[in-house]
Amino acid sequence: MSSRVLPQFDLLTPQSIPEAVAMLSQHQGQVSVLAGGTDMLLWNYIRKVKPTYLLRLSGLDELDYLNYIPGEGLIIGAKVKIVQLLEHPDVAEKFPALYQAASTFATPQIRNMATVMGNVLRGSPAGDCSCAILALGGQVVLQGPQGERLVGIDDFWVAYGVTERKNDELAVELRIPEPTSTTRSAFIRMTRVHEDLAKINVAVCLEMKQNTCQRARIAMGCVGPILVRLKQTEKLLEGQQITGELLEQLAASAQEEIAPIDDQRSTEEYRRQVAGVILRRVIEKAVGTH
Ligand SMILES: Cc1cc2nc3c(=O)[nH]c(=O)nc-3n(C[C@H](O)[C@H](O)[C@H](O)COP(=O)(O)OP(=O)(O)OC[C@H]3O[C@@H](n4cnc5c(N)ncnc54)[C@H](O)[C@@H]3O)c2cc1C
Repeated sequence: MSSRVLPQFDLLTPQSIPEAVAMLSQHQGQVSVLAGGTDMLLWNYIRKVKPTYLLRLSGLDELDYLNYIPGEGLIIGAKVKIVQLLEHPDVAEKFPALYQAASTFATPQIRNMATVMGNVLRGSPAGDCSCAILALGGQVVLQGPQGERLVGIDDFWVAYGVTERKNDELAVELRIPEPTSTTRSAFIRMTRVHEDLAKINVAVCLEMKQNTCQRARIAMGCVGPILVRLKQTEKLLEGQQITGELLEQLAASAQEEIAPIDDQRSTEEYRRQVAGVILRRVIEKAVGTH
């Protein structure tokens, strides 16, 4: 059979969240959830993953919402597409790292199909929106037979392509906390061409008091099996004024903290070099000096 032909599967088309969860429970471990399909379908025939069932989210319109709630933050339903982030005025204004990740993401065709949740659930260390969400902080809401469960984004990815989600749980919502008036965030990625996945990506979320960084979250992708926080580098930044000298120290610290590998998109050496450069640039971009 041609490698371009998808393997056979049964399609499950639930019309409500409880029905979807019941189907996941009934066929535990044999079902793959299908959102936009931009990862899932490729994965199926490149990696020869052969789920017995595909559970399609298209009937679950109740998961298609994107709301900014003052005092709470951004609430992203599991069917929200990347393009919807670009169309929502509060995303650009209050969550620039996420907006910038969405605006550099793939092509218009992919942005119209791919979901933000699919990016997070894929568990790829190259995920652009995932990188921004790790920097902004937040939670994934999972719905299972026993009810709702919230998992912090810091704990959500456990290994390459593996998340905290259990087989009988549907990921229903992402929650990103409200920024304060002094929160600054930004995202940058390096790719060969726009359509490619990142060679390396980075996002920061900084709590600033004038030129002093009070609190920092730094997320970097493609430098290990999962997206990582650069906690040692965050500590160096916290409580400090952002100067050229400090940026040099942060760049050196980031290079020490990561564990990149050679793969088809880049080399370990390139990623380690560029990690320091893009960290410096993303901090400058966040605080408005780049
Ligand atoms: C040409 C091309 C370019 C790309 N460019 C980029 C890029 O620039 N940046 C980037 O980050 N990614 C890129 N990708 C990867 C992909 O588009 C993204 O990861 C996308 O966000 C996946 O979303 P989706 O809705 O298509 O997910 P799907 O492919 O449907 O699913 C992805 C994974 O998440 C699981 N899943 C999805 N939703 C749920 C749910 N609600 N509950 C439980 N599990 C769920 C699926 O079972 C699957 O394992 C690209 C892909 C292609 C084909």
